[in-house]
Amino acid sequence: MAHDHDHDHDHEHEHEHAIEPDEDAQERAEAEARKQLALAQIRQYGDPALRLKANDVEDFDDDLRRLVERMIALMHDAQGVGLAATQVGILRRLFVYEPDEEGPRAIVNPVVAERGEEIASDEEGCLSLQGVRVPVDRSTRIVLEGKDEHGADVRVELGEYAARVVQHELDHLDGVLIIDRTDDEHRKEALSTLRPRAVLR
Ligand SMILES: [Zn+2]
Repeated sequence: MAHDHDHDHDHEHEHEHAIEPDEDAQERAEAEARKQLALAQIRQYGDPALRLKANDVEDFDDDLRRLVERMIALMHDAQGVGLAATQVGILRRLFVYEPDEEGPRAIVNPVVAERGEEIASDEEGCLSLQGVRVPVDRSTRIVLEGKDEHGADVRVELGEYAARVVQHELDHLDGVLIIDRTDDEHRKEALSTLRPRAVLR
């Protein structure tokens, strides 16, 4: 899941030396370059892997832990708050997410154990659907059970934003995208963003 971190940093630092290069501008340029490199490694809309259902993870081995590390690095570089294995072309049921300051986590073979009755709508983006933001209904409270990358049992109770993020990532493991979950009007608009050349045929 993508999230526009509205960087509220104050970029108007008082530089003591007027000739000092604009370090903020350079940092921003580097972050943008890292983001583009990460996005190039994340499957984009139209890629069949995004539409396939992932299979349970059976081996909690070094390969799995390396995959989790790689996915966390990609999620960070792409400035996202969640990334599912299907988005990197791996059809296994796991995702990484980081909806708050508590650091990134992986959930392997996630299952919804409980779902609250309340539903809320909010805009979502997706690292695989660049330039698209659409409103999606999600449960505001969810309990997930699964394993961590070492095979230990995990049970997390999530509310609001975190609940939204994991429902988005769970959808990816079943080949479901946000354009499937929004209304007709937003879907049409999103598809015109994703397939701008289709009309030229
Ligand atoms: Zn997504």
